[in-house]
Amino acid sequence: MLRRELLKMSTAFALAGFKGARAAEATEGGFCNPTDPLQALMDGNKRFSSSWREAMRNPDATLSQQLHSNRCFNAPAALIESQQPWATVLTCADSRVSPSWIFDTTPGELFVIRSAGNTAFDEAIASIEYSISVLRSPLLMVMGHSGCGAVAAALSETSLTPSLERLITPIRDQIDGSSRLDDAVRRNARGAAANLRESSDLLRQSETDGALKLVVSYFDLSSGRVSLI
Ligand SMILES: [Zn+2]
Repeated sequence: MLRRELLKMSTAFALAGFKGARAAEATEGGFCNPTDPLQALMDGNKRFSSSWREAMRNPDATLSQQLHSNRCFNAPAALIESQQPWATVLTCADSRVSPSWIFDTTPGELFVIRSAGNTAFDEAIASIEYSISVLRSPLLMVMGHSGCGAVAAALSETSLTPSLERLITPIRDQIDGSSRLDDAVRRNARGAAANLRESSDLLRQSETDGALKLVVSYFDLSSGRVSLI
């Protein structure tokens, strides 16, 4: 049997296993509402990373073959009327770090705020306060990622435009004393989460009340995995 055929067979088995692995979540009023939002994010990332690694191994496999299968979808009729995102994600604008993709979610599930370097600027804080207070989003994740260009720029001495300097300055503050990109990315994500706590009474109060859980994570492009840090 040709190697290509074997690979096709192994992909088919992987798909069969994948489809049987997880029952679709129940919907409430047309919305997906996982009972454990953090577990739902991590489960979604497991599906993504498995597809990601399969697509790396097998030139015939594509991510779209395995993602968005056998899982909850929000009803379009419900989404026309409102939104009930069960998680909020603050992350980088990097084109490879799309939360909906790497957590295998569908429209209406994640409330996402992005800027290069995932800094908690005023607009990000305000958007997060909206997601907590108006949309009642119960989980907030700040996520850094491997190979972050914004953090790399903050580590380097290269001169930048005034706007880029403004973007990079808070990152430099977070990563002071770091020389490795990977370490700097982690420090920057933790620092952004600390800034959010410092800057938002509403966020702190929501954590105290148990209405919000704040977590920090790192997305590794080589494995497709998101880990809590
Ligand atoms: Zn980045």
